[in-house]
Formats: sequence, C-alpha cells, structure tokens
Amino acid sequence: MKNRLWPVILVLVSFLSACAHPSLVGKAPVKENGYLIRNVDVFTALDEGKVLQDMDVYVRGETVAVISAKRLDIPGAEVIDGQGKMLLPGLVDFHTHITSGMIIPWGTVMPTMRFNMEACLYSGITAIMDMSGKKPAAMNALTCEIEDGNLAGPHLFHCGMGFTGKGAHPIPMVEKMKKTFPWFVRPFFPEIVIEVDDVTDMDRLEDHLAQGPDFTKIYLDDLPDDSPKMRPEIVHEIVKRSHEQGIPVLIHIGRNEDVRVAIDSGADGIAHNVYKEPLDAKLAGELAARGMFVIPTVYVFHNLNAFINEEDYDHYCDLEWETMHPSSIEALHNPEPFISPEGDPWTDYYRHFEETYAGVLHPNVRVLKDAGVTIIAGTDSPNLGMAAGGSLHVELEHLVRGGLTPAEALLAATSAPARILREVFHQDVKFGTIEEGVDADLLLVEGDPTEDIRNTRNIAAVFYQGDPLVRNK
Ligand SMILES: [Zn+2]
Repeated sequence: MKNRLWPVILVLVSFLSACAHPSLVGKAPVKENGYLIRNVDVFTALDEGKVLQDMDVYVRGETVAVISAKRLDIPGAEVIDGQGKMLLPGLVDFHTHITSGMIIPWGTVMPTMRFNMEACLYSGITAIMDMSGKKPAAMNALTCEIEDGNLAGPHLFHCGMGFTGKGAHPIPMVEKMKKTFPWFVRPFFPEIVIEVDDVTDMDRLEDHLAQGPDFTKIYLDDLPDDSPKMRPEIVHEIVKRSHEQGIPVLIHIGRNEDVRVAIDSGADGIAHNVYKEPLDAKLAGELAARGMFVIPTVYVFHNLNAFINEEDYDHYCDLEWETMHPSSIEALHNPEPFISPEGDPWTDYYRHFEETYAGVLHPNVRVLKDAGVTIIAGTDSPNLGMAAGGSLHVELEHLVRGGLTPAEALLAATSAPARILREVFHQDVKFGTIEEGVDADLLLVEGDPTEDIRNTRNIAAVFYQGDPLVRNK
C-alpha cells in the first residue's frame, strides 16, 4: 500500500510546484519621464536588417518616441548605457503551446502556463502564436487578461484548438503521454485537438470559428509513421469555411505530399518544414509564388533526435536552463529508459529519425531560402525537451545553421512575423521593428547578434509595452 501511494504523492508534489512556481519577471517602478538608451546600435528590422550605429533611443509611455544620432538630453529620464550593446525589437515565437508543460518522456511534468508566459518575457519574447491548447473562448480570455495587465505574458495570438483526422496526430502522441499520468491527473491536460472526419462534422468547425480564434490550425502528419491523416477533401473544406469568415489557416505538415495538399487547399502558411524527407525544391517555389510562409521549427526535431538517439539531455544553453521549470530540470537530471521494444510504431518512428529525418532538417531550410519563401521563427515549445523562452534563441541558431544570415534569422523573429500578423491575420500590430512611433517592445543585448546569433542570449534588458521588466535569475 505504501509503495502504491508514492506515484500519487510525486504527481501531487509536481502539480503543486507547478502551481507555485518561482516568478521569473516582475515590473519595475515606472519612470514618468521615460527611458533614454544611450550610444546603442539599433537593429531596426527594416530594409533587410538595417543597423543604425551609436544612437540614442528615447522610450516614453508605451512608444519608441525618438531615435537620434545626436546625443539627447531628456531631463528626468532614466539613462541606460547602450555602449557595446544592440537594441532589437522584442522577439516573436510563432509556434508555441503555451498552456502545456515541457514534455520529457519519463517525466511527469505538469502544464505550467503562467511559468511559460513569464519565461517568454524573461527571454525577450514579447509576442507568441499559440498553435493549439484550449478552446478559443478560453484563449481569448487569456489574451484579455494579458492586455489588461492582470497576467504577465507576451501578446498572445491563437488558433484555440487544432483540427485533425480521426485518430490522427496528435491523438496517438497525447494518448502515449497520458499513460505516464494516473487517471486523476489526466483531466488537467489541454485537449489540444478536435477530430473532423467528414463534411458532416463541420458543425464542430463552425462552433469553433464562432468563438473567434485568430486562425485555424490543421494537423496533417502521420505520427507515428503510417498512422491516419485527415483526407484532402476535409482539409479543403476547413480552409474554405475559415476563409469565408476571414480567418487564415496554418497546416502542420511532415512530408512533401502534405505540402501539396496544403498548397492546393489555399491555406496561408505551413507549421514545421518538411522533416521526413528532402524538401522538393519545386514545391518550395510554389510556396514562394503563392506568398505562403513556413515556420520550420528545426530545434524541436533536433531535440527529439538528441533525446531518442543520442541520450543527450543536457545540451541546453544557460538561457534555456534559466527558463526551465524546476520540475523539468529535476526530470532531465534523472533520465530513465523510455524507448519501447521493437515492433512499437513509435520505436520505428524514432529509428527513422536517426536514419533520415535528422539529416534533412538544416538542408530543407536552405531549400526554403533559395526558393525565396518567407521563413518565420518558431519553437513548438514547450514540446519534447523544449522550454518556452530560451528555446527560441536556439532556434535562431539552427536557422543560421540552415543557411540564413544572422540578420535574416533576426528578421524571421521580428519584422517578418509582424508583417504576417498584419497582412495575413489582419491584426493591427505596431511591433516587430524599431522606428519612431512603434510599440516599445524591445530586447537589449550585449554584443552584436548580426555577427554571432548566439549574442541574442546575452540579455541586458527587456522592455514590454514601454516598461523595463525585472528579470529574476
Ligand atoms: Zn506544435
């Protein structure tokens, strides 16, 4: 009896620690006369990454008020030394599951939404796109809490829950994960997904759209390999009905054939790049010609390979460790075997990772770039081995390894997603660049990330809506 109680106690302890998490960010007392950042290099995110050297930047209220090559004198403003530093627009993570917990195959790590949101701000991420977690009405309530200042979090855009075929991804994955948890914990899991198998199921879509999501997400991937996928005619119907209501559609894909379906359906963007085979350059050309954007999420697949094939659970940078929940750190420090015996479909999937998938991740980014596709940075965090926050900085490094210049990688996390939000999502956003009159969502770093992209991790300050955040290490 004693032994049987232990798992229950452990889960309860991790649940309670998930609720009472350490606070990563706080608000500094507001300076009425604003902030003057002196002698700073400014990555404007305009004109393919123009940098203004040695500027004074004055932040007043919620706005970047003045950018000046001449020294400014603003009585009463708090002066911040920008020498040797670069000021960037706040970063955008275009693929999160903010209501979830970091997935560690052997770890019973609970959802940690508030912690994830603070981890984003701590890391200079001031806007996120959530790719499925809760119903749109619940996500809209979170958006309001954030915008009203009652919840510390980045600007939040979301799809509510995603749509998938009967028994299709992510259902097998969620079922596999739930087995780690006892029955009484499972109801706390985000529902994530709605199954749609026939045009007669479209009332589920209509109910969902009526709640006002920012976009529709469709899962189109066989995971594990050869499991069911949504039929193309259903994909087409969902895209058509979403567009009729002015709602854009993003499609999670895995293979070239999925990209084909996404293009033919008229969808607006692709979540993940092709990761199961080399990306067909002709398809990439079609994506570019149609103005469809792609969020490659290289690091999450790299992480999956590190976990399953390299038994590497401690490759994280300092910023990632700082943005990891204590229960995740505890689990990573105490790894347990988790690969199922031969014949389990997940074991086959893992083996394919080692044989093929891991080798195409970086080259497929290059194919996108060469075709002229708009590349957007996103992490898929918190997902397997991924902490919200620090992971975006590592994704930027992976985009550079895939062939982007550091400046291009920075654009993929700043002005490029902001443009997509305005043009495709019809959102009135004033962030993503640094110019006079924009929102003061800013990231100040030591060193020059256009020389070495890893310098984005050397964070000196984060401004959110004009206020510097207190970052609690
Ligand atoms: Zn995802």
